[in-house]
Amino acid sequence: MENNFKLFSVGPVEMNDEIREIGGERIPYFRTDEFSSLMLENEKLIKKLMNTSDKSKAAFLTASGTGAMEAAIMNMFNQQDKLLVVVGGSFGERFKQICEIYNINHDVIQLNQGEQLTKDRLYEYSNKGYTGMLINAHETSTGVYYDLQMVGEFCSKENMFFIVDSISSFLADPYYMDEWKIDLTIISSQKALALPPGISAIVMNERTVEKIYSNEVKCLYFNLKDYIENGKRGQTPFTPAVGILIQLNYRLKYVDEIGLDNIIEKTKVLAEDFRSKIAKFPFTIPSERLSNAVTPLKPKNGLSAYYIYTYLKENYNIYLCPSGGSLKDSLVRVGHIGELNTSDNDVLIDALSDMERKGII
Ligand SMILES: *Cc1c(COP(=O)(O)O)cnc(C)c1O
Repeated sequence: MENNFKLFSVGPVEMNDEIREIGGERIPYFRTDEFSSLMLENEKLIKKLMNTSDKSKAAFLTASGTGAMEAAIMNMFNQQDKLLVVVGGSFGERFKQICEIYNINHDVIQLNQGEQLTKDRLYEYSNKGYTGMLINAHETSTGVYYDLQMVGEFCSKENMFFIVDSISSFLADPYYMDEWKIDLTIISSQKALALPPGISAIVMNERTVEKIYSNEVKCLYFNLKDYIENGKRGQTPFTPAVGILIQLNYRLKYVDEIGLDNIIEKTKVLAEDFRSKIAKFPFTIPSERLSNAVTPLKPKNGLSAYYIYTYLKENYNIYLCPSGGSLKDSLVRVGHIGELNTSDNDVLIDALSDMERKGII
């Protein structure tokens, strides 16, 4: 495959030189004290960067983010539960699918494309006996960033467990797990962590760990109790993606050193730079509440979004994120996570200017 591409995708994303160098190194044996201490440090740093108590636990799964979404739900909930699922696009839909597969009672708050979840809408579901809430922090398929603090207050009033897939938002937007009353957070390596795909993490507060221990799960590989038990000594039940966990350690230490706020601010500046530069082109940004991670673009002139994605890929080696399903022709997304800076934005803007000159957009 050609290697001189530029990624504005939302995972995998551009990785920096140090991370790529580590990726080229030999893989050590992992049932060692040295690897255990690296893993314990990974856990400590992830919890710190999520703003959760050190008493919370992290499980590291060798799986993409969807594996962690499935593991979280099947370990926490059973047929006695009744969940509320926010579906604003294909990632919310994924939570719904998991509930269907495991026969877990659930109701859906269905949102239109680009629509945010308002307090009025949410509070229609008060006092109905829900035991848990499933939401994506950022519905990556449409570029809507939900008000997690508002949802957390609702869950706390309703005594519901609050489960957040923060996969495309972690390190791109602020995230206060404890303050926002989030019980379980899911993240994955290939988004703003800017690592190769292959590792996901589930972070659970104390009451969630208790709930998981009291629930029986029929699964060998994704039994979170085993991950929590092994995690106490910095290990995983099975062979993990050792190389990515070493890269993760490097990355987390880097973020901690630079400062979480600075990392988020850099993404915000990059997103705002792009949004100001794209304003003169024939697109709208159809999202009521944007994450720093992504800008969704809808062509104004009826041109196919998928065609624009293909044209940029074929002619400039630039990869945006195309949409699937019903949004294929109406929405293309530009990512601001990974090793990108404002001059990369200029490369994309120059390509769009060139397309404009040629009469393509
Ligand atoms: C990327 C992403 C996922 C996980 O997708 P995988 O392909 O399984 O890694 C889940 N939720 C959201 C919101 C995402 O952006």
